[in-house]
This record gives sequence, C-alpha cells and structure tokens, in this order.
Amino acid sequence: FFGRRFKANEYLHLQVQNGYAPLYSDYDDFFTRRLKLRIDDCFARPCRGVPGRYLSVLERTSDDFNKHYRLTGKTVQALNMASYNYLGFARSNDRCSDAVEKVIRSHGLSYASSQTCVGTSDLLVQVETQIAAFVGKEAALLCSMGFQTNCSTLPCLAAEECLILSDELNHASLRMGARISGATIRSFRHNDMNDLERSLRRAISGGQPDSVKPWKKILVVVEGIYSMEGTMCNLPGIVALKEKYKCYLFVDEAHSIGAIGPRGRGVCDFFGICPSRVDVLMGTFSKSFGAVGGYIAGDIGLISKLRLSSPDTYFGEAPSPPILKQISSALNVMTGPEGEQRLRRLAFNSRYLRLGLKRLGFIIYGQDDSPVVPLLIYNTAKIAAFSREMLKRNIATVVVAFPATPMESARARLCLSAAHTKDDLDRVLRACDEVGDLLLLKLSSGIGGGA
Ligand code: PMP
Repeated sequence: FFGRRFKANEYLHLQVQNGYAPLYSDYDDFFTRRLKLRIDDCFARPCRGVPGRYLSVLERTSDDFNKHYRLTGKTVQALNMASYNYLGFARSNDRCSDAVEKVIRSHGLSYASSQTCVGTSDLLVQVETQIAAFVGKEAALLCSMGFQTNCSTLPCLAAEECLILSDELNHASLRMGARISGATIRSFRHNDMNDLERSLRRAISGGQPDSVKPWKKILVVVEGIYSMEGTMCNLPGIVALKEKYKCYLFVDEAHSIGAIGPRGRGVCDFFGICPSRVDVLMGTFSKSFGAVGGYIAGDIGLISKLRLSSPDTYFGEAPSPPILKQISSALNVMTGPEGEQRLRRLAFNSRYLRLGLKRLGFIIYGQDDSPVVPLLIYNTAKIAAFSREMLKRNIATVVVAFPATPMESARARLCLSAAHTKDDLDRVLRACDEVGDLLLLKLSSGIGGGA
C-alpha cells in the first residue's frame, strides 16, 4: 500500500484538456495534495551567505501553493545541522578561498567547451590525479555534477543482457542510471548479505559460483553511507560475495568519502579493504569537499574507456576552475595533519550527538560513526512542526518524508560537521529535548502519539 506512488488521476477526476491530462498532473499526487500544501514551508527555504557552522535562513510566505513565494525580509541566523559540510570546507577557509579567488582570475569560470574539445584544463588533470591517489585507484575522471555522474556512468558499465543488483535504498541517481542502462535491475534488501547471496545464486544457472552465467555481466551497486538511514554498507560481506560469484562492484561514496576511515578515504579505509577489490569507486564533491561535482575512480583501462563513452565527459563541460581549485585545496588539507584533526572532530561529534539523542529517548538510525543522523518522527504531519520549532530555537534541520522515505517513517536528518563544537551539540540536544516533548517524539512519551 505505502510502497507505491499515488497517481492523482486514480483519485481525482482531473479536468481533461484537449483530450489530455494537464501537463503538471503527475505532480498532483497523494503526497502533494494531502500533505505538501500544509508542510511546504519546511522545504526549499531560501538561504543566504556561506553555509558553514551557521546558516542564514530567510523567512518566506505564500498563501497559495500555486503562487510565488514572498520573502518577508526576516533572517534567522541558525546553527547549521542541515548541510553535508562534513569536514567544514563549505565555510570560508582562508587557504581554500584565497586559492579559489586567484583561480577565477587565472582560469576564468568556464572553458566554454566540452572535456573532449578544449575543456580539459591543467587543473582538471591535476584534480583527477589527486583524487585517484586519494581513493587508491589508478585513475579517475570528473563530472560537473554528482547526480549526473551516476546517470551517465552506469549506462556505460551495463546494458541489455546485463544484471544490476541494487541495494533497495540506493540513491535516486543510482536508480536512474540503472534504468537508463537498459539492464535488468533487481533490488536486494538493504545491506542484507543473505538476500544479496540469494539474488546472486538465482542469477546464475545452477546457483553455484562456477556455473554458467546467463548474463553478460552482473554489477552489484551499493552506497558507502546511506544518507537517509545513516547506515554504512557491509563492505567486507559484499566484497566476499563479489569475489565468490565473480561479479563486479560499484560503490557510491557520496557521503563516505572524506567523512569516514582513519584517513578519511571512505569505506575501504574504514574496513581496511584494499580499494583494488572494488571495481568502481564513485564519489561527489558536494559534501566533504565543500564544492560540487562527481568522480569515478578505477583501473586506467576502465577510466580511459569511460572518458570516451560517458556522455558527461564526452559531451559535457568539466567542473568550473574555481570548483576544481576548491577540491584540490580541500584535498591538500585533508591529506595533512589538519585533515586528521578534522576527521577526529567529526567522529567525536557523530558519536556524541547520537549517544545524546538516544539517551533522551529518540529513535536514531544508523551506525555510531556515521555523520548523518536520522531522528525518527514517523508521522509525516509532524515534520513541518519539528522543522519550525527547531528553527524557532535557531537550529536549521532537514526533514524528509514520503516519497524520499517509506510513508510510515518520516524523519529529521541532522548532519554533523567538523566545524561543530561540543557546545553546539549540547544546544542541539537541549532543543531536541524540548521539541521532542512538545511533539511527543520520544520513546518514553509514546512515539506517534499526540495531535
Ligand atoms: N549519490 C548519493 C548517494 C547522494 O546522496 C547524492 C546526493 N546527495 C548524489 C549521488 C548526487 O550528488 P550531488 O548532489 O553532488 O549531485
């Protein structure tokens, strides 16, 4: 019942125009009609300034869903628990921002050309080399957006007659890339090694690792850290199955690169697994690096072929020079002693906040080391109130509900940063304590109760 999307025309008699449904009819689904109208103000709030430890959130009003928003002129200076600014690089950092400013003068903002033509700058080559070395792969290529990186790479790796085994909670960009590829897609239960093995056995005639394979390729696709769950993939288990059944493995490290592992190098670093045992490591620069864009890292042969077949690198513009400089400056800091300090701070913050929230009686998903902290609200009707009450206490949070989560497990997501201090987290805990009582969100007060 909850798993499927409600289409408006199943429930509403939409006015047919010239024999067709209105152009926007697909948006007019159950979620939009019943809930979004009332809770709309907790999404897409305009912000101003640098999203560092603090965030300037602008108040806006709209009396009608179909009208444009109006800014009221009121600004809330809020503690930022909403950005994926894991290592604090989104905040102006002298070393990064000075270098970035200089590059705007030396390289401009755009090469006005695709990577294949004259869009491959010296900075691009330098960052590709740096990121490949950082993640422990022979080579890497860069795309201007993380979402697009998955959408344009997966169709180069798998096509018809191939099988993609996808974790059921994979990000929309992975699901879209898999769909575009034309491969057969089967999902397995989140992080469930028994279910993954069952899917692998079912995919191979005879069910034995050495039996004849009826697929051209089998590609297992997972994430390092799942951003809605705060869970980390079971990389040792997945790598063992990949090697047993001789299939390929693609890991999206959008939320794990720069955020976990003793050297911040993601899930391989965290579990002590040699990166050569994973075929493709993908990541984004919009989180730990305070920039934007995505990368694919792998063997040199794979990357050279992808460079010529991926629509993004073949037809698309590379990330802008100041973005490349931000990534490279952040990488320089990450690989030095200050990087280790930031990682330790982030790890401490993740554990401290998680423990504090659990002690207060909240249900929190995910592993202790994960800097994404989903606080379960369950009842979708309460998410706007949570967001507003936290903002009243000058704390910016993200709330998520169906269709981004199952209908019955709406949640707030608190994102930790190395830029947060212990005092900041104590403030968050005090605010959550009050709001949790107000909205009856704690176990002791009976989850899901109240108005
Ligand atoms: N992969 C995952 C797992 C993500 O969570 C996201 C976005 N948060 C992306 C890819 C897309 O990255 P970007 O926002 O940088 O385009």
